[in-house]
Amino acid sequence: MKVRTRFAPSPTGFLHIGGIRTALYSWLFSKKYAGDFILRIEDTDLERSTKEAIDAILEGMTWMGLTWNEGPYYQTNRLKRYNQIIDKLIFENKAFKCYASKELLEEIRTEQILNKEIPRYDANHPKIKLLNQTPNDNTPHVVRFRNPKTGSVVFNDKIRGRIEIHNQQLDDLIIRRSDGIPTYNFCVVVDDWDMGITHVIRGEEHINNTPRQINIYQALGAKIPIYAHCSMILGDNGAKLSKRQDAESIMHYRNKGYLPNTLNNYLIRLGWSHGNQEIFSIEELIHLFSFKAISKSSAIFDPKKLLWLNNHYIKTSTPEYIVQHLQWHLDQQGINKDNGPNIIEVCKLVRNRCNTLVELADQIHYFYKKYPNFEMKIAQQYLSPIAKKPLQLALIKAENLAIWTTDNLKKMITEICSELKIKTHKIGMPLRVAITGRSESPSINAIMQLIGQNRVILRIKKALEFINNKS
Ligand code: GLU
Repeated sequence: MKVRTRFAPSPTGFLHIGGIRTALYSWLFSKKYAGDFILRIEDTDLERSTKEAIDAILEGMTWMGLTWNEGPYYQTNRLKRYNQIIDKLIFENKAFKCYASKELLEEIRTEQILNKEIPRYDANHPKIKLLNQTPNDNTPHVVRFRNPKTGSVVFNDKIRGRIEIHNQQLDDLIIRRSDGIPTYNFCVVVDDWDMGITHVIRGEEHINNTPRQINIYQALGAKIPIYAHCSMILGDNGAKLSKRQDAESIMHYRNKGYLPNTLNNYLIRLGWSHGNQEIFSIEELIHLFSFKAISKSSAIFDPKKLLWLNNHYIKTSTPEYIVQHLQWHLDQQGINKDNGPNIIEVCKLVRNRCNTLVELADQIHYFYKKYPNFEMKIAQQYLSPIAKKPLQLALIKAENLAIWTTDNLKKMITEICSELKIKTHKIGMPLRVAITGRSESPSINAIMQLIGQNRVILRIKKALEFINNKS
């Protein structure tokens, strides 16, 4: 049987990292068994679902590289199908219309509490029974699933083990609201059934829904999938990461300059392990992933480790991969990569110094402008009259350098030092500031080589003007 998993977010907020980790587990599992991964948008909560949230889900999944084989399916496109099945269940007496008003249900609830009973929906309560005896489609009503009254539901959760819930604990669930819209617990079953989902991997907040859904599967005569419920991710203070915190949105990490591979690796490790290994390629993850190695306890989110991993991925990923994800940051910072040296070469030169792509973009501005922006304090310090002679000589030599290579530029600096009898930094620093506007950078020869002869000459001239204007 082909493995088919799915990610089924409700578009009621942004795509948060807990959700994306669940998606990742589902995706990896389908890949491991050469199966299918399906994306389904559970948008039946019409009031809370938004177009922005749907876009954020698609954007986040795409950015993370979690490609789907089918979908996105939208539950709102399938309302007819759900309603057909609900009508069939009503016909088979496995579901029923309930006319009890909110007020009546509240009154019964208070009565139950006063009688020290567990408050729950009771179809046999005389007042409810009386109302439901004469169904009338013109009167507001909901449809409830007739949950079995005896026995229990047992399932073997792949992460949590055996779970048993007595049917007495479950009441007759609403499967269609009074506005005619079917509810989550019902739609999810019909969808997973219709879509042939073999493994339902989702957050632990759904454990309580599972026995209810299993009863619906049984009423439909459908095959029950295998379940795996993942634990929560907690903040480093041990508190639940709030869904409303922007910092929890997956795109927040894109904006902060993290690579998708960093997040993939980080989120997988958050609750799943393979010995002490910290760094995994996607291929390795697909190969090694198993439910057995997923922890039952909540995982703690550690931003420092995430940053450390990002540094690792920035240093070790292919420059092409870095550049692919750097583009968004270049756009943000107004850098046009066509307006300067090959970005791949620039990236190779600069990336070792960066923890994030924001830093990387920030460090390469000067490659893509005619002139760098001088950091004023630095310019005042290094572009002083004492730098004039070395820079003048550098200008002459740069203008006359026949072959513009890193080695020749290195030689050029050595010659300036010996001709003027100065230490390397006496030319190195003014040159660095003239070319980059900064006091820190990778090797200045390599930078000059990449920036090219014409622009280097212009920059040295501009630095000399700066010195002249000061004196
Ligand atoms: N739509 C549900 C949610 O976003 C997930 C349902 C499921 O995975 O079964 O929490």
